[in-house]
Amino acid sequence: EELRELLLSRIRDVADYPQPGVMFKDITPLLADPDAFRALTGALVEECRRSGATKIVGLEARGFILAAPVAVAAGIGFVPVRKAGKLPGATLSQGYDLEYGTAEIEVHAEDLAEGDRVAVIDDVLATGGTAEAAVELIRRAGAEVAGVSVLMELGFLDGRARLEKVLRGAPLTAL
Ligand code: IMP
Repeated sequence: EELRELLLSRIRDVADYPQPGVMFKDITPLLADPDAFRALTGALVEECRRSGATKIVGLEARGFILAAPVAVAAGIGFVPVRKAGKLPGATLSQGYDLEYGTAEIEVHAEDLAEGDRVAVIDDVLATGGTAEAAVELIRRAGAEVAGVSVLMELGFLDGRARLEKVLRGAPLTAL
């Protein structure tokens, strides 16, 4: 509860960004506060340990910022899931629908293997489309999803219901 209050106090609401009608959750005040950032990292490390993760996937771009210190602290490898066209090696790609249009994310195929248990980390769960695509990508690489952890979920968009349908009982944790 204390952690939750600390984290909430460091998230800024920005109205009409990136477009009119959207209330954007800005995590930069949290990143600028070393106590809050450390507390968040510690809680995410705890989640990864609990789930027995052997790899950590961060989702571009804010997910990278959160996942990298967690990987170092937990002593397990970091694997970037990037927007299409950014990774230089052989990739697996997964498309997904946006409100208007489609998007595609990729992972280096050699970064994940059978036997890996993967913890997925991102900042915000909105519709759940991005995280769902990441789950598909991880499984297509032969690995298993240990859990999904986010700083924050936007409850009114019900990404949780969508994601839980594909998680096969793995935990979705929103701090
Ligand atoms: P979803 O695919 O609709 O769940 O959107 C989640 C993705 O969009 C995540 O990678 C987030 O970083 C980003 N996102 C959506 N809404 C926000 C927000 O309010 N603040 C920060 N990132 C957001």
